[in-house]
Amino acid sequence: MTGWVDRVSAMLAATGLPAILPGRGPLIVMYHGIGGSDGIAPDDFRAQLELLRTRRRIVPLAELADRIEDPAAVDLAAITFDDGYVDFAELAAPILAAADLHATLFVPAGRVGRSNEWDAGQREPRPILDAEGLRRLDPERIEIGGHGFNHRRIVALDREALAEETVGCRRELERVLERPVKLFAYPFGQRGDFDAEAERAVAAAGFVLACSTCFGRSSRERERFRLRRVGIEPGDDLAIVAAKLDGAYDWVAWKERAGHALRLAQSAFAAGRP
Ligand SMILES: [Zn+2]
Repeated sequence: MTGWVDRVSAMLAATGLPAILPGRGPLIVMYHGIGGSDGIAPDDFRAQLELLRTRRRIVPLAELADRIEDPAAVDLAAITFDDGYVDFAELAAPILAAADLHATLFVPAGRVGRSNEWDAGQREPRPILDAEGLRRLDPERIEIGGHGFNHRRIVALDREALAEETVGCRRELERVLERPVKLFAYPFGQRGDFDAEAERAVAAAGFVLACSTCFGRSSRERERFRLRRVGIEPGDDLAIVAAKLDGAYDWVAWKERAGHALRLAQSAFAAGRP
């Protein structure tokens, strides 16, 4: 998040308002890289997990999704990581194991053993786990999900490309892991980065849910193939993480929605111009 978003949210947190806001439900936390010059430091990650545990009971993502509108499940959380980086196995997995916590790791199937080439020029290169590294993760503790095949936006794709990013992603990961792969997260994952056709294709490919990167502390059952998440970013101190968990950032969901509507309107306007 940018600095001004953090400042507005800090002011909101100070009012005590978030505590009485609606929007509390089973919550999915999202991480990317741990360690390195632009990842979350391992000690910070450990402290964030401790904080999360004071507020929520952490369960596997599939279990959380099955109780998405269950009023008795409002204290649940699931932990997710996107991109399948080597640092997940080296730094995050031991911390999760020591805390006896479950997490889901979303892997771009066609990039196994490569790196985050999609971030070239914007972020430091991070290696992605190879097949052997994925197989070494404890399946009891770490569920591996799909994150597309090429880590591309799954929007307005032709039928062949859409199949590669969904069915192809699942088949390739199942070939590598020799077990079923049922969970999915859209690369990039904002509303403009996947469309309704992508949601249908992910469901038809046999996945049982899909995560977006749209901000939100809860989702509805009808959003099962575009679940909201709470992203924890490098640079978030514990006060920011607490504010995100407690609702002071809930307004960001509206900001994202308005931004998406504005972009749609702009492209419709541009398309209508002679
Ligand atoms: Zn990604």
